[in-house]
Amino acid sequence: MSIDKIANELLNYATVDENIPMSSLTSLRIGGNARYVVYPTTVVALVEIMNVIKRYNLPFKVFGKGSNILCSDKNYDGVIIRLDRSFSEVYFTEDSCIAQAGCSIIAVAYEAMKNGLSGLEFASGIPAMVGGVTFMNAGAYNSNMAGVIEEVFVLHDGMLEWIPNSKCNFSYRYSVFHDNPDWIIIATKFRLKKKPVEEIKEIIETRKARRIAAQPLDKPSAGSTFKNPLEKPAWELIDGIGYRGKRIGGAMVSTKHVNFLINEDKATAKDFMDLVTEIQDKVKEKYKIDLYMEVERFNW
Ligand SMILES: Cc1cc2nc3c(=O)[nH]c(=O)nc-3n(C[C@H](O)[C@H](O)[C@H](O)COP(=O)(O)OP(=O)(O)OC[C@H]3O[C@@H](n4cnc5c(N)ncnc54)[C@H](O)[C@@H]3O)c2cc1C
Repeated sequence: MSIDKIANELLNYATVDENIPMSSLTSLRIGGNARYVVYPTTVVALVEIMNVIKRYNLPFKVFGKGSNILCSDKNYDGVIIRLDRSFSEVYFTEDSCIAQAGCSIIAVAYEAMKNGLSGLEFASGIPAMVGGVTFMNAGAYNSNMAGVIEEVFVLHDGMLEWIPNSKCNFSYRYSVFHDNPDWIIIATKFRLKKKPVEEIKEIIETRKARRIAAQPLDKPSAGSTFKNPLEKPAWELIDGIGYRGKRIGGAMVSTKHVNFLINEDKATAKDFMDLVTEIQDKVKEKYKIDLYMEVERFNW
């Protein structure tokens, strides 16, 4: 069966882009080409796409905004599924919100604010989709997704199921979805609280100002590169080894926020990982602490 035959089959159910640089699909702007990038418009189309993927035994990966993914420099001979073009409806009630996986979490947080619903203020600056923040249990300012998610609508094994928060196994930047990479998050239901719009707005604006002051938002990055170990925050360890501003090839430790490794100038995945490994080694040597990546490596 030729490759074109596969593209034609996928095209029955979705817009299909071919040979797309993954650098254009991720916030780090790094990566080789992806053979197929598909944009299904409905759950039915998504189910059929999964059937095609299974039939041809193709590797696949759902991408959100790609703001936590470091793609290798190699080409990816598989299917990347993006939900942002169609899975972008949000439904509000008096005290809850159901957002489809392709919604921007920033947009959902602002919509919640307009509806006088509080709970997502902490996420109003995370450049991600609802599927991605649910998968990652993203968090900031001592809050996280686990604290506001009621249940998650998931496609797995050809079936749709609402999975309650208690079965999502949320912990620090972790969820049950890490152990089930073939599950696809379709939507997330958030439990929110009524609050005056002005109060919500003030919290969002304070958080926004803090982000702008603390993060190198003018440079491509994937946010915090390392998880914070229990002993000390990652930034303190990286600063402690004198790596603020350290550069390997095009990858650099931000001078503004040392846990942000940025793509300073045409960085390759190798540059990025060389810098990561050097930091891990030096931190281990000096502090006897293991630094683990928060950023996910893909297609290695
Ligand atoms: C400037 C900047 C600031 C950031 N600030 C924060 C922060 O404050 N807090 C924080 O926690 N993170 C932060 N991040 C990191 C990142 O935004 C989060 O990890 C976020 O959760 C990733 O969401 P995404 O939509 O980009 O997902 P992606 O990076 O595209 O994917 C992440 C993982 O989720 C999986 N996934 C995505 N969608 C689905 C789906 N529908 N179904 C199944 N699996 C799916 C992917 O396969 C992948 O494994 C920041 C990043 C940047 C660049």
